[in-house]
Amino acid sequence: MTERNIKSVRGWCPGALKPMESGDGLIVRLRAHAGTLSADDLLAIAGIAQRFGNGLIDLTRRANVQIRGVTQDKLAGLWSDLSMLGLLDPSSDAEAVRNVMVNPLTGLDPTEICDVRSLARELEHRLAEDQALWQLPGKFGFIVDGTGLLSLDGERADIRLKAIRIGEETKVALGIDGPEGTIWLGAADLQTAADAAVCAGHAFLDVRGSDVRSRMRDLPETARLQMHATVATQLALIEQIPLGGETRPRLGTLDYNGSVFAAGIAAPFGRIEAGTLRTLAALSIKLGVREFRLSSWRCFYATVSDEQTAKTLLAVAQAHSLIIDTTDPLLAIDACPGAPACRSTTLDTRAAARRLAPLLNELGCRCVHISGCAKGCARSKPADLVLVGAGDRFGIIHHDTARAEPRDFVAPAQITQLPPLVRTS
Ligand code: SF4
Repeated sequence: MTERNIKSVRGWCPGALKPMESGDGLIVRLRAHAGTLSADDLLAIAGIAQRFGNGLIDLTRRANVQIRGVTQDKLAGLWSDLSMLGLLDPSSDAEAVRNVMVNPLTGLDPTEICDVRSLARELEHRLAEDQALWQLPGKFGFIVDGTGLLSLDGERADIRLKAIRIGEETKVALGIDGPEGTIWLGAADLQTAADAAVCAGHAFLDVRGSDVRSRMRDLPETARLQMHATVATQLALIEQIPLGGETRPRLGTLDYNGSVFAAGIAAPFGRIEAGTLRTLAALSIKLGVREFRLSSWRCFYATVSDEQTAKTLLAVAQAHSLIIDTTDPLLAIDACPGAPACRSTTLDTRAAARRLAPLLNELGCRCVHISGCAKGCARSKPADLVLVGAGDRFGIIHHDTARAEPRDFVAPAQITQLPPLVRTS
C-alpha cells in the first residue's frame, strides 16, 4: 500500500482509502470488484461496521457499499481488516478511478446477451494500473452491460460498454455520454472491449481542455469529433442503438422458465443495519449461497439456485424490515440521509419519506426525490416530485431536479397534506 490518506475531503466521492466526513463520522466506501461480494465478505463487512463504525451500512446508487460513522482513530484497524479481505486498493487514486458499474445479474440471467464479468474485471484492472487514467475526474464512470432483465440502459455513464448481437456474433458497443444521451462510437469484440474503453479514456483526457472537472457530456462538439476519430479506428462501425428507459428493480424470487437464479432484496433508502446484514450473510453461508451482486437500485441479489433457498432468505430479509416486494412504495422514493447524518440540513428526510410513501398513488407520482438540500445526493435525474430542504421547510418542485427553484413550500409536519397542495399547484 503506497498511500493511506487519513485526511477526509468534503465534496469528493468517498473511497475506502479516502473517507469523507459526514454528520455521523467518516464514510468509508467500498467498490466491490465487478459488483460482487461473497457471503463471507458481507459477514466480515457487517463485523467491520460494528467494530469500527456506527453499525450503519449504505447500499449506494453506484452499486457500492459504505460503512458509516467511522472515527479517525479506528481507520488503521478498519484498513487492516479490509486489506485481509482483499477489499483495499494499493492507492486512493487506483481506487477512485475504478468506477465501473456492471449489470447485477450478469452470468446468471439466461436472457442476457453475454456474461460481462471478465470484461468488467479486466477494465477495472486496466484503470487501476494505468496511472495516466488517474487524471480522469472523480465521478467519471464506466458501465459494462451484458443486458437482460436488469440492463443498465437507464443509468448514465461517461463511457458505456453494452453487449449487442450483430447477426450471429456477440459484440460490445462502445458509447460515450453526450448532452442528449449515449453516442455510439462503434463495436469491439468481447476480448478487445476493455482496450477500446481505455483508449476512449485516454482520448477524453487528450481533448478535454483545461477544466479538469469536466465530464464526457461537457465536451464541445469539435472535441467529441476529435475523440471519435481517435477511438473509432479500433472499432467496427455500427448503427446507433436505442437505449431502453429507466429499469425498475426486480425483487423477490427471480426465475426464468421456472428455474430460480436469484433473490432480490432492497434496503429502504439503501440503509441496512450491520446486525441485519450479519444475520443474512450467516444464513446465506449456511444455505450455500456463494455470492451477492450489488446494484444501482440500492438492492442486492443473492445468487440462489432453488426456490426454497430463495424463500428462506427472503423471509428472513422481510422479518428484518428489508424490502422484497417490487411494488413497495418506498422503492419509488429516493431520500438522502438528511439530518442528523448530514450537517447540510436540519430536516429528517427519511422520516418525511416514510410519511409520504402511502400517499404516492394519490399524488400520481412514479418517482419522488426527498433531498435535505439542493445538492441532491440521492438522485441526479429529475423526479415527478422533489421535496428539497429550504430552511425548516421543504420546497416543492415538479418534474425537475433538487437544483431547480421551488415555488411552493411545505412544513415537515404538513407533509401528509401534500396531495391537495400538489393537485392545485
Ligand atoms: S443532499 Fe442530503 S445528504 Fe446531500 S448534502 Fe444535502 S442534505 Fe446532505
